[in-house]
Amino acid sequence: MTQPELDHRIHQVLSAFKLHGPFFAGYPVNQDFDYSDLYPLLSFAANNIGDPFGHSRYQSNTHETEREVVRTIAELMRLPPDDAWGYVTAGGTEGNMYGIYVGRELLRNPIAYFSQDTHYSVIKILHVLNIRNIMIRSQDNGEMDYDDLRESIRINRDVPPLIVANIGTTMKGAVDALDRVRGIIEELALPRSYIHADAALSGMILPFVDDPQPFGFDSGIDSIAISGHKMIGSPLPCGVVVTKREYTAQIGRAIEYVGALDTTLLGSRNAITPMIIWYSLTKHGPEGFREIVARMLDTAEYAVQQFNANGIPAWRARNSATVVFPRPSPYVLYHWQLAPLGDIAHLITMPHVTRDMIDQVIADYLEWPRAET
Ligand SMILES: *Cc1c(COP(=O)(O)O)cnc(C)c1O
Repeated sequence: MTQPELDHRIHQVLSAFKLHGPFFAGYPVNQDFDYSDLYPLLSFAANNIGDPFGHSRYQSNTHETEREVVRTIAELMRLPPDDAWGYVTAGGTEGNMYGIYVGRELLRNPIAYFSQDTHYSVIKILHVLNIRNIMIRSQDNGEMDYDDLRESIRINRDVPPLIVANIGTTMKGAVDALDRVRGIIEELALPRSYIHADAALSGMILPFVDDPQPFGFDSGIDSIAISGHKMIGSPLPCGVVVTKREYTAQIGRAIEYVGALDTTLLGSRNAITPMIIWYSLTKHGPEGFREIVARMLDTAEYAVQQFNANGIPAWRARNSATVVFPRPSPYVLYHWQLAPLGDIAHLITMPHVTRDMIDQVIADYLEWPRAET
């Protein structure tokens, strides 16, 4: 291919991205960022293969920054950084897989419990890891039905439970009550259990609000996965998984070829994404995130009020930027890239979503009524 032909394709892709950007209201992806400071790093073949807390023979790595990211996230998730182990993953799915894998290794033959509203990655992971599992009913608000959880665990009392708790469901932003889950485990006097928290989006919201629902290690979780391309705003998909250091001793295996402890699910790993997460966390700092989150939740509340004022029954969970409403017409879904599920759809007031965009979504919603089906 000639250079003009190469340029043409790149330009095509760029134009498509630019065209869709201003109408991006439905997915929990923060588009408000500038990582141009990091661009020079892309001139090198960097690789974070192996355990970020161990030694690696592959020297163009960013393990040190990755450790810093893990420690910062651990602290936000209320785990003393020295007690934490984790790494930067390729996304929420890998973080869930790692947490659930650790749970299975510790409990040997558990039964996994997750709710109807749990992210689809979890069902896939349980299938891949060949873990017995039971789907728990959800309440209408998207939280797990705790009575159903208690009954299901009670019937299987002889098998240790591995519970996947949603710290913000994908569709409704609902947070499973960790205190109630712990209460059930204690009530049934189960000696062994494991809680993995899927905190893809809300894991980076709840640490920055005044009155969060229980979400962290201080509420009894054993591992947590958050996404880097959602709240943190990474242009490359990524995430962070954090678990307790003491758990990982049972899992690592030394691999001579790369001279590294093989504790991560993937072999070769992205060395740029730890830099991106570090950049965002460090640049904004906890105070910056507090402001960003406050603004998001304020826009979400504005959206609920404006929908309601126009006769559309929208709602959101406490401390959630996910605004749920009756499914609009296909045009509105497509134009604003809203995520539908059955009768409902949502928009998410990520930092790039403005009040003006909300007004436009509602105007379109009213102008393009949903065809009767
Ligand atoms: C987005 C999301 C994930 C993971 O998604 P990836 O696409 O793998 O990053 C997991 N759980 C929940 C609740 C999510 O919203």
